[in-house]
Amino acid sequence: MSHISHNLRTVRSQIQHAAEQAGRQPRDVRLIAVSKTQPASAIHRAFETGQRDYGENYLQDALTKVSTLADLQLTWHFIGRIQSNKTRSIAEHFQWVHTVDREKIARRLSDARLATQPETPLNVCLQVNIDDDASKSGLAPDAVADLAAQCAELTGIRVRGLMTILAQSEDPDSSYQRMAALYQSLAPQQGWDTLSMGMSGDYAAAIHAGSTMVRVGTAIFGPRIEPIASGSDTTLERSP
Ligand SMILES: *Cc1c(COP(=O)(O)O)cnc(C)c1O
Repeated sequence: MSHISHNLRTVRSQIQHAAEQAGRQPRDVRLIAVSKTQPASAIHRAFETGQRDYGENYLQDALTKVSTLADLQLTWHFIGRIQSNKTRSIAEHFQWVHTVDREKIARRLSDARLATQPETPLNVCLQVNIDDDASKSGLAPDAVADLAAQCAELTGIRVRGLMTILAQSEDPDSSYQRMAALYQSLAPQQGWDTLSMGMSGDYAAAIHAGSTMVRVGTAIFGPRIEPIASGSDTTLERSP
């Protein structure tokens, strides 16, 4: 058994354990394997264990894998920062985008999706900066309802819920609980079903709070070599 299939088994059993402890159904938590910087061969290993959802941050790197692995019918989630000149390519090749935090980006994604796949709206999460961390993107909590209302006019996207990335030093339980409260205050009237939060170090805490999608990279694929930051190319932006 490769280390990837072993790690996936461990992560899945920990997701199940955390869900059960929280009185939730394990099937209500979807695992997104974050494969940024990992080769297509690593994704193939994960696929063999039944893993279908993959998260990517660096567009150029992702597009190579999307085309190499096209036969596998994977579900691709864009979880990186979105540059407005990349929205067309993102809308065309991904099924989900977790990092929408501006009306301009939402509109560009919607227009691009309508031009290529008008029958199937792009699934979107609105990214919230729950800890008011200056280094993180995302909306202030009190701006979420307005952006959701603007997005409701855009027929090429369908807002499914909220997403957050925590600051490293924060107490994850308290931040995830605040996210869950914000989500629950809006989800029924908005018809949302997705709360995307939790990474390798803290997904159990996120599941306890109510996460429905955890985005797990290093705990599945091992450590990665991050590209060097650069202003002009998404593929070279440093990840959070
Ligand atoms: C890299 C990344 C993850 C996964 O992080 P790990 O700590 O490797 O699990 C999750 N979400 C986002 C937005 C990321 O950029």
